[in-house]
Amino acid sequence: MALIPLIYSDVYLLHQSKYHHVENPERVRSILNELKDHQFISPYKVSEEDVKMIHDIDYINLVKKTSEKEGWLDADTYTNKNTWESALYALGGALKAFEVNGFALVRPPGHHSGKSGRAFGAPTLGFCIFNNVAFPIRKYNLKRVVIIDFDVHYGNGTQEIFWDDPEVVHIDIHQDPKTLYPGTGFPDMIGGKEAEGTKINLLIPPLGGDDLYEELLPIIQSIIDDFKPKIIAYSAGFDAYEGDGLASIRATEWTYYNMGILSNRFERKYAVLEGGYTVGLKNGVKAFIQGLEGEKKEYNKNTSSESVKSRFRDYLSEEKRILREYWKI
Ligand SMILES: [Zn+2]
Repeated sequence: MALIPLIYSDVYLLHQSKYHHVENPERVRSILNELKDHQFISPYKVSEEDVKMIHDIDYINLVKKTSEKEGWLDADTYTNKNTWESALYALGGALKAFEVNGFALVRPPGHHSGKSGRAFGAPTLGFCIFNNVAFPIRKYNLKRVVIIDFDVHYGNGTQEIFWDDPEVVHIDIHQDPKTLYPGTGFPDMIGGKEAEGTKINLLIPPLGGDDLYEELLPIIQSIIDDFKPKIIAYSAGFDAYEGDGLASIRATEWTYYNMGILSNRFERKYAVLEGGYTVGLKNGVKAFIQGLEGEKKEYNKNTSSESVKSRFRDYLSEEKRILREYWKI
């Protein structure tokens, strides 16, 4: 069993707010403490020209200017004078992860960042600067990619960037957006005209546990089997972990381990860090990596109450009805 390469640079610690903020350098430090036996690889720094492959020039300039001024991009999303640099290295971390089939432990995160910043009417950028997971796909013009986004929030930026691209299947599992930022990401959002069915939103109601993820796994597996991707990419957020702080899902190691297992059959894969703020990072990251590496583990499953399960089943029947028009599930 090979250990997967981890991509990391101290540059990821330099983006920070002078005020208390949940998205802070301590997040990555807490992960590093848990992964001491792994090999760490340095990321690239990408060029400004590279960033234009995924973002509009106006947004890129706004990030650069706001970073120089150490201002806020919006009420949630700060910059300091290192943000620009950290964000270029975060994109380069995703690129390196793609090249070595690794996991990039990047900050700032990226999945809420769309072409011109806020995506699908989101109120803010949700701490994100540039869209890291999207970058290798555009840089190398990758085809037949499945992105699995298991951050507890909907990856609206990523879904917007690939909205019209049938070569990128984006499976996003998140807390019911009626109850959580960014307020979009419902099952009827299926992609643009040429890409219908390739954008997939699977909802977990508040207080849902691992048992609900367990019901989603065969659906995700069937879509993967049907699409036959060459590459599996992950937007790996750990804020659905029970008690992590920003949401109310009760996932544990069981879920993160099994998310990692999903890509075991694939030679080409990469993952980039998204959210996760406290215990999710400490416990979830390690379990996800064990899954990616195909290590044999037995984790206990958290279960949901009957009322939560019944809400979940309502979502699931709608999701299946929509998905069956496009996939063999
Ligand atoms: Zn999140």
